[in-house]
Amino acid sequence: MVEDVQRVFVPSVTEEDGNTIGLGCFSTEKVAWEVLRTFLKRSEQMLLINSSVVVWDIDRIGEDAMTVLATMDCKDCPVCSRRTFWIDLEHFSALCYGSSCSAWIEENTIDPELIDCGWPTIRFLKQNKSIDDAVMELYKLGDKLKAAGVREQVSGTAEQMMQEHFEQSND
Ligand SMILES: [Zn+2]
Repeated sequence: MVEDVQRVFVPSVTEEDGNTIGLGCFSTEKVAWEVLRTFLKRSEQMLLINSSVVVWDIDRIGEDAMTVLATMDCKDCPVCSRRTFWIDLEHFSALCYGSSCSAWIEENTIDPELIDCGWPTIRFLKQNKSIDDAVMELYKLGDKLKAAGVREQVSGTAEQMMQEHFEQSND
């Protein structure tokens, strides 16, 4: 038995040049979100500025037929620096969709005065008094990682030098 579809859920993304890409038209909100989230995982390959999920009532004329369920803005990730950090301003949450990053910010579930932020890769988790503080903590983490990356490069070079030295002494 097929039920009559009364409403459709439409996820879309907007590119930096203003071009909007529709991701399809779905009979449930759940599927619309799944499709959008899957698409956002690829967002590091493109320059997107925002995304939304909109619901349309079928057979209704005019703009009342449309309701915006959610919008998210895309920013550079404080941790990995890629343009993959999606912020839902209405619900105060953010998540990096970049591969192997997943830095996040969310309202604390118990105390709404607190804003949590985290980076699952090293199980980093911190409670903050404001969204700004949370963003700042993630930036600090990103800076530390960049510094560590530089050290890795240096030690890599040192290793290479050792290896070259070893090869020479083998001759
Ligand atoms: Zn990231």
